[in-house]
Amino acid sequence: MPEIVVLSGKGGTGKTSLTAAFAHLARGHVICDLDVDAPDLHLLLQPTPRRSETFRSGHEARIRAADCSRCGQCVDLCRFDAIRGDDPPVVNARQCEGCKLCVALCPQAAIDFIPRHCGDWHISDSRMGPMVHAQLRPGEENSGRLVAILREEARKLAGNLGRGLILSDGPPGVACPVISSLSGADLAIIVTEPTPSGRHDLKRVTALTAHFKIVTVVIINKGNLNPEQTAGIKSDCCQRGLPVLATLPHDPSVTAAMLAGKTVTEYTANGFSAELQAAWTGIQRHLNTVARKE
Ligand code: SF4
Ligand code: SF4
Repeated sequence: MPEIVVLSGKGGTGKTSLTAAFAHLARGHVICDLDVDAPDLHLLLQPTPRRSETFRSGHEARIRAADCSRCGQCVDLCRFDAIRGDDPPVVNARQCEGCKLCVALCPQAAIDFIPRHCGDWHISDSRMGPMVHAQLRPGEENSGRLVAILREEARKLAGNLGRGLILSDGPPGVACPVISSLSGADLAIIVTEPTPSGRHDLKRVTALTAHFKIVTVVIINKGNLNPEQTAGIKSDCCQRGLPVLATLPHDPSVTAAMLAGKTVTEYTANGFSAELQAAWTGIQRHLNTVARKE
């Protein structure tokens, strides 16, 4: 099952707006939002959940009041200051680091060590096709594992429904969730912007895609805002053999579409949308090249 993941190396490049537009152009395939720490593809695609599951990772302590003798030892033991009060003491789940010390040393064995509810994931229907997405609770970790679960569910869904492509909005940056979203993907689209940090982050994320030997294409967004940096990015890409499929201008229709709750390609058939359509045609061409090699 071919998988395309859209990455950016940093937030704020317009990655999600472009992914939503590609979801519109590719309509009917499985869409996946892998940006589990701060998902926002659902804001544009308005999915209706069909199935929701709890994501649990790690453990947290919970005191059983009925068995607690109120000795207070656990309050003193917890170096994360996660246990407060005395009648009985209560664990603040947000502060509990899951070290299990209180569980092991409670003289009454009155502390359970329960799987931690870190977030929820969903399989939904959207106007662009079936969608797999999630929301990690604030401050929770292990988003890489949640990304892996979403990808697995997306593959199953695509197989069950006979869909020929998975299009994923990847997490920003180059940390664990990005690695989790990339391994085994067929094509990476990197959306960048013409700023020094955009150029720097593009180098970092393309180093990662090169490491995983993933065919990579680049889209420069808001390219007209800084022609010098845009030229620098194009030169970098040329040196590294990375095709730049589009240099999109800053266009107010993107924000207007967002405010209307639509993808830009749904909202208007202007020049910007035409450039996105051309970019999508280029993406399909590169994907076909990958498929032929396999
Ligand atoms: S150590 Fe155990 S018995 Fe003592 S206060 Fe904590 S939970 Fe209760
Ligand atoms: S498991 Fe560790 S961090 Fe959590 S409440 Fe017990 S001692 Fe504190």
